[in-house]
Amino acid sequence: MKRPFVSKDQLVRIAERYPTPFHLYDEAGMRANAQAVMDAFSWNPGFKEYFAVKANPNPTLISLLGEYGCGCDCSSATELMLADALGFRGRDIMFSSNDTPAEDFRLARELGAVINFDDISHIEFFEEVAGPIPPVVSCRFNPGGTFQLANGIMDNPGDSKFGMTEGQLFDAFRMLRDKGAREFGLHALLASNTVTDDYYPVLARLLFELAVRLERETGAHVTFVNLSGGVGIPYRPDERPNDIRAIGEGVRKAYEEVLVPAGMGDVAVCAEMGRFMAGPYGCLVTRVVHEKHIYKDYVGVDATACDLIRPAMYGAYHHITVMGQAGGPDKSELPATHVYDVTGNLCENNDKFARDRELPEVEVGDLLVIHDTGAHGRAMGYNYNGRLRAAEVLLREDGSTELIRRAETPVDYFATLDATPLGRQVIARCNREDGRHA
Ligand SMILES: *Cc1c(COP(=O)(O)O)cnc(C)c1O
Repeated sequence: MKRPFVSKDQLVRIAERYPTPFHLYDEAGMRANAQAVMDAFSWNPGFKEYFAVKANPNPTLISLLGEYGCGCDCSSATELMLADALGFRGRDIMFSSNDTPAEDFRLARELGAVINFDDISHIEFFEEVAGPIPPVVSCRFNPGGTFQLANGIMDNPGDSKFGMTEGQLFDAFRMLRDKGAREFGLHALLASNTVTDDYYPVLARLLFELAVRLERETGAHVTFVNLSGGVGIPYRPDERPNDIRAIGEGVRKAYEEVLVPAGMGDVAVCAEMGRFMAGPYGCLVTRVVHEKHIYKDYVGVDATACDLIRPAMYGAYHHITVMGQAGGPDKSELPATHVYDVTGNLCENNDKFARDRELPEVEVGDLLVIHDTGAHGRAMGYNYNGRLRAAEVLLREDGSTELIRRAETPVDYFATLDATPLGRQVIARCNREDGRHA
C-alpha cells in the first residue's frame, strides 16, 4: 500500500491555508533520500550527483539538494541562469543539452560549466559561437540498437536522438584533445524510469569498459563517468523501490573489476538523477468539485493535466489516495469499493489522472493526493485551455509549511501579449479583474 507523506488531518489544515490545487513537497523525505544517495556512493571520493534541474526547477528544492553536495544538471540557458543565481559555479554545473542553441553554449562557457557534448558537430559549433574548448569536457554516447536488462526492462537507443556513435566518440575525444581539453568525461542515458537495481551497474560496466578503450586509444585522460538519470521510482503500489545502496555497490563492483585493474582507479562517478531525487517527495493535492455518472463514473477535480501531464502524455500511472475532508472521516485507509475515472476540466478527453481506478467512495469536497509528482510534475506544466499552473508548497521537517512558488495568475498568463495594442487591451482588462479580487 502506498501511503501519502501527510496525514488526513495535516492535509486538511494545509489546504485551509493554500487553495487547491498545489504540489506539496516533503522536505524530510527528500533530505533522507539525498543522504542515502551520498552514502551509497561514498566509496568513490569524486562522486557527484548533478540534480537534473528539468525534473523540478524550484530554487528552494535545488538549494536543499545542494546542501548534500549535489550540483545542477542543466539543459538550457534558463536552467543555467537558475543554477548561477543559486550560487552553483563551474564544475558544480553539468551542461547536458542537445540540438543546442548558440546562446546556451555561450552562457554555459561563461559560467565555466562542464560541457557535455551531445554530438561531434557541436565541437566546432561551440568554438564558433562560444569560444575555445574548455579544459574539462564530456561526450555523450549512444550505442544504438536496443538496450535490455535481465528483468526485461528495455529501451531503444537506436531510435534515440541523443549522443554519438562509438566511432564518433573516439573521433570527438581526439578532436577535443587536439583542441586543448585535458580532462574527459563519458556520459550515457540508455533507459528511463528503471525500477531495478541493475540499470546503473550494467550501464557503468559498459561505460567503464569504453572509458578504458578511449583512454588507451586516444590518450585522452578520462576523469569522470556520468551515469546520468534513468533511475526509477515505484509509481505503482506493487513495485519494489530501488535500493540505492545495492545500486551503489553494483557500480562499485564494476568499478573494481574494470577501472581499477586498468589503472583508472581515480575516475569519479557522476549521476544526473532527477526522478529518483525528487519524484516520491512531491504530490499533487486536489479537491473533488464534481461527480458525474453517465456511461462511467467520473470524479472531477480542480487540478488538470496542466499540473501533471504524465498520465495524459505517456498513459503514466500515478497512485491516488482519497483523503477525505474537514469534519469527515479519514478515508486514506479505506478499501476500494468503487471504480472511477478521475478527471480535470480540460476540453480534452485525455485529461484524466486515472482511468477505471478502484477507490473508496469519493464525495464532492474530498481532498485527493496524487502521488509522485515531485519530478516531471509541475515542471512539465502548461497552459492549455487558459489553465493556470498550481502553486508549490514545502512541508518542512518540523511540520510547518512554506509557499515556495505561488500559483500563476491571469496577469502571468496574458503578460506576453504586450506586443500589440489589442494584447495590451487584454492585459488591462485582466489587471482590472485582478484589482477586484485583491
Ligand atoms: C532527463 C534527464 C535526466 C534526468 O532523468 P531522470 O529520469 O529524471 O533521472 C538526466 N540527464 C539528462 C541528460 C536528461 O535528459
